Amino acid sequence: MFLQGQMVETPNGVKHLIYKGYAYTKNNKLKNMGTRYACCSRLSKNCLAYVHVSKDNVIIKSNTKHNHKPPNYFFSKEAQFINLLNGTTLLMVNGYTFHKNAGVQYSGGIRWQCSSKSSQRCKAFVVLSHDEETLLRLREHHSHEPPKYKSTSTGMHVKIY
Ligand SMILES: [Zn+2]
Ligand SMILES: [Zn+2]
Repeated sequence: MFLQGQMVETPNGVKHLIYKGYAYTKNNKLKNMGTRYACCSRLSKNCLAYVHVSKDNVIIKSNTKHNHKPPNYFFSKEAQFINLLNGTTLLMVNGYTFHKNAGVQYSGGIRWQCSSKSSQRCKAFVVLSHDEETLLRLREHHSHEPPKYKSTSTGMHVKIY
């Protein structure tokens, strides 16, 4: 287990380390010393913050002096992309599905609308970053129960009516 840190996975499987409110991604392996994680804003903001994690997942060294505010990220282990048999890709978050719609820009990302927007007048939506790796925002007040999907052997999902 991490001490004070938490590993989370983004919708398409990229692992991040969350530590004291900031997100870090794997930077490089340290010889026999574990792994170095660098702040996600390393490139965009030249942030020098990092965390060293030993091989047994203990944070042994860190520089948490960020030159920016903590990101307002929302990570969910329950988020994943699913492919429907008709070729549509949906984002499933906590059992609900969202589709990209026309790809409306929304505060630094793309807005994905609840799939039941038209049938249930549901206003729930999520905002996914442009690289589709981070959920930036989650509005989860659904007006309905989650849809039921069944995985097929090929990894496709079939909606059950
Ligand atoms: Zn930083
Ligand atoms: Zn909904």
